[in-house]
Amino acid sequence: MKHLVLALSVFPAALSAEQTRSLDAHMHGAGTLGIAFSGTEFSLSLEAPGADIVGFEHAALSAEDRDLVQAAISDLAKPLSLFVVPNEAGCTVKSANVALAMAQIGKHEAGGDHSDEATEGHAHSEDQETRHSEFHAEYLITCQNIDAIDSIRFDYFERFPNSQELDVQVVSPKGARAYEVERSAADLDLRGMF
Ligand SMILES: [Zn+2]
Repeated sequence: MKHLVLALSVFPAALSAEQTRSLDAHMHGAGTLGIAFSGTEFSLSLEAPGADIVGFEHAALSAEDRDLVQAAISDLAKPLSLFVVPNEAGCTVKSANVALAMAQIGKHEAGGDHSDEATEGHAHSEDQETRHSEFHAEYLITCQNIDAIDSIRFDYFERFPNSQELDVQVVSPKGARAYEVERSAADLDLRGMF
């Protein structure tokens, strides 16, 4: 399987980050979120399929599609509205970087076995089914009282109705743990991680 990063950065420079790595295969409905606590700060690292965030993964060519992407990036730039921590923690966003990465997955496989007649002639087409995009976001958040973060409420699922779950990796001074946060149970209990 070959990955080819096609294009990105159709967005304001302040919100864009260079994306040069290939996309791994992803599952629509499922994203990943890394959370790392360190001192008075924590970082968030989100990767989510375009299907989850804007409902499509083709290039945003129409004005309507571009508006959807622009609105999504604008909302993704406000992490504490998507991943809500207790007020008592006194957290503010230090940095937010959001990017859209596009890739074609599984095209032009060298020596591919095209025994199936139906695949003939498709090798060089712009087959939308093999085109994927992902939103990637990196955040740094600083808190006055980080120990007050005993849970995180994932309003992310409210904002992005096509998203179903996030695989969450939490790293804190107490260790590392993996969680699965789903639309139907959108709270992450962090008691014991401080
Ligand atoms: Zn996809």
